[in-house]
Amino acid sequence: MFFRSITTVLTPRFRLFINQFYHLQARQFSVSTTVHKSWQKIQRKYMGEPEKKSTLTELNPPPEYIDHRIKIWDELKAKYQNYIAAQPQVDITITLPDGKTLPGKSWKTTPFDIAQGISQGLAAATVISKVNGELWDLERPFEKDSTLQLIKFDDEQGKQVFWHSTAHIMGEAMELCYGGCLCYGPPIEQGFYYDMYLENRTVSGLDYEQIEKTMKRIVKEEQPFERLEISKEDLLRLFGYNPFKVRILNEKVHTPTTTVYRCGPLIDLCRGPHIRHTGKVKAFAVTKNSSTYWEGDQTRETLQRIYGISFPDPKQLKEWKTIQEEAAKRNHRKIGLEQDLFFFHELSPGSCFFYPKGAYIYNKLIEFIRSEYRKRGYQEVISPNIYNSKLWKTSGHWDHYAENMFRTEIEKEIYALKPMNCPGHCLMFASRLRSWRELPLRMADFGVLHRNELSGALSGLTRVRRFQQDDAHIFCAQSHIKDEIEGCLQFLKHVYGIFGFTFELKLSTRPESYLGELETWNRAESQLEEALNSFGYPWRVDPGDGAFYGPKIDITIRDALQRAHQCATIQLDFQLPIRFELQYQTDEQGELQRPVIIHRAILGSIERMIAILTESFGGKWPFWLSPRQLAIVPIVPSLDSYAQEIQKKIWDAGFQVDCDLDSGTTLNKKIRQNQLAQYNFIGVVGQQEQKNGTINIRTRDNKQHGEFSIDEVIKRFRELAESRTNHAEDEFAGSALDSNVAGATSQLQSSNLSEGQDEEN
Ligand SMILES: [Zn+2]
Ligand SMILES: [Zn+2]
Repeated sequence: MFFRSITTVLTPRFRLFINQFYHLQARQFSVSTTVHKSWQKIQRKYMGEPEKKSTLTELNPPPEYIDHRIKIWDELKAKYQNYIAAQPQVDITITLPDGKTLPGKSWKTTPFDIAQGISQGLAAATVISKVNGELWDLERPFEKDSTLQLIKFDDEQGKQVFWHSTAHIMGEAMELCYGGCLCYGPPIEQGFYYDMYLENRTVSGLDYEQIEKTMKRIVKEEQPFERLEISKEDLLRLFGYNPFKVRILNEKVHTPTTTVYRCGPLIDLCRGPHIRHTGKVKAFAVTKNSSTYWEGDQTRETLQRIYGISFPDPKQLKEWKTIQEEAAKRNHRKIGLEQDLFFFHELSPGSCFFYPKGAYIYNKLIEFIRSEYRKRGYQEVISPNIYNSKLWKTSGHWDHYAENMFRTEIEKEIYALKPMNCPGHCLMFASRLRSWRELPLRMADFGVLHRNELSGALSGLTRVRRFQQDDAHIFCAQSHIKDEIEGCLQFLKHVYGIFGFTFELKLSTRPESYLGELETWNRAESQLEEALNSFGYPWRVDPGDGAFYGPKIDITIRDALQRAHQCATIQLDFQLPIRFELQYQTDEQGELQRPVIIHRAILGSIERMIAILTESFGGKWPFWLSPRQLAIVPIVPSLDSYAQEIQKKIWDAGFQVDCDLDSGTTLNKKIRQNQLAQYNFIGVVGQQEQKNGTINIRTRDNKQHGEFSIDEVIKRFRELAESRTNHAEDEFAGSALDSNVAGATSQLQSSNLSEGQDEEN
């Protein structure tokens, strides 16, 4: 298994996403035939399906490869121990993050020793260490003077190591139960998975119980994770039985030696690092399974993928399960159907049909960003959807991304639908001579994008083929970078604040293989650092994780369920301007300079953002974004025309207002139905309201605000929509506090007025 492989060798497509192409999202493999355990239970309960039992047990005798591997391991381990013993043990200094130093011996003292020296509690809570900036097994001795950082589970890297280590535990159980060939077992955003080749056999949801049972035993045994560095020849000997590991060794491993790790009978190809022993995993669950292809390629072998989650504390697993249940209730596909927002059709997979109420939300989001563009000096453009493949050859997409583009032949030339806007924007920039006076030029585009995702990888609005982004490219001089980046950060802080999201920032710097001048990189990176510092939010560096064409800032948002999502992108690009030979005239005697491009998006894909918002709000749309702002309910049919009259008035003022004229149900039931349909406000009208020219307002949470004139309602609605508050239902009254007197007066006036009208009539 290759842990580091997620960003180094694992998946060519993933790499493309991260490293080569702009604004693309990762994770596009799994072909889902997912079976949730709880879903099976529900099925059994409600559909009367007989309770089935899995036939899975641990194989007896265990698979032959286990003995084969252990024999080679023992021989190599002895050699390695001799090597370690022969290393000079000299005095070294360990420096902690606070600058404190501790003495140690090279090839003897371990990070775990140091942690224990500080406190037992710290040693127990530490998941992994970082030595000289490199993730390092706690039991692996220091080799020289070193800096040391002790990382716990609450750190993102701690989680990833913890989950990846649990993947080994599950892999061990899978070998013992199925006896197939393990492939890749990385950590993911929430938990981990392991792929196994099982020829024609498939994994059933009923198998989870046995896998968990075996995992429990492995955890109880507290098997240590042992590390060994061995030569490629020995590796090929060790993994000769597994054609997939042999493939990885031959195709992906370019160093003379690499590492393997052992826990119990499992010996696995892996760069590590791992937790100290299997007993650190105090709670875990197998969560789902699916089938997939080797490296996501449909033409290769079908693999069985099993997913899991784990924690150092059983309480955390319980909390995680509660959140999963809540998330299932809030699933955007479910709410999308219930609220008449959108649907999908098999005749256009991965392309969403938005009903009017869904389109309303879509357009409101764009309108919001567009209004910010005006304030922040962005200029919106409209660019073509389909381009001659020559464009994609210039941009570099044709070599690496062509299979993900929808292509077609037109007059004997190959064309493709755009998967991103950048190359088109480069043509716009280059269409005439540009002056330094025009920079920074912030070119925004809501253009429709298409990406040919595998049909099996499509998933509601989170993975689609057709989408729009709040995409923009900032063409600027190198000296503009700091200010532009800070502008982007302020922009996203404003937008995410309105959605109630918190976020985390990470600076990804120059990777080993980078293009361009070192000097340019250094200058850009220090400007990014300055921008992050003056922005004033905490941030961390991920050294070497930038794309080959420029450093970037990764932004992770947390929604209302504290789930992490990546939506925004702020990415510097030195290469695209070179590929398109972009230039601008400086003020110094018309000298020509190369601009830098900043790719940036805040919502990211609007489709995906709608999925996130639907689930984060649980379908309770904030007033400004809500496609159902007010339902008017007349108490008797004779008031229908009054209801319709005020509906028109409020509608004309620009609000989403419907009348519920169905007289077949009781008033209370009607109010309840409209509350459940998530109308922010319900306005009841009776004879008194008609007489007074008013409406009686309550909220979807049944908070009573009382009688208001129609003008007052419109005024309040305008304020609430403009402020884009998430608490309009409470603030409707709150904002009325200071104008309560005015409200009462206006009610009085309006009732006077209606009386006056009565008289005239
Ligand atoms: Zn591993
Ligand atoms: Zn771009």
